[in-house]
Amino acid sequence: MQKVRYVRLIFLVVGLIGALLGLAFSKSNSALSPVFLVVAGIGVLGHVIYTMIAWHCPHCGRLLPTKQGFWSKYCPYCGEKLD
Ligand SMILES: [Zn+2]
Repeated sequence: MQKVRYVRLIFLVVGLIGALLGLAFSKSNSALSPVFLVVAGIGVLGHVIYTMIAWHCPHCGRLLPTKQGFWSKYCPYCGEKLD
């Protein structure tokens, strides 16, 4: 679960950095702006898709909470340890 956690975090960080750089470059009319917005889209979409595919409890198989419980050590549904 630790690996899934970090991959989700990386996708989210890539999405946020892409969005921020895209906005920053959009003010200067740079050709880089759309590139960073595509990177942001890939980051956010990757985060959502990867969460739906991999963010499941390895014991009961239920989709784990996406907002709270990102770092939780136990499944809120079956109570089993996640790592
Ligand atoms: Zn569970």
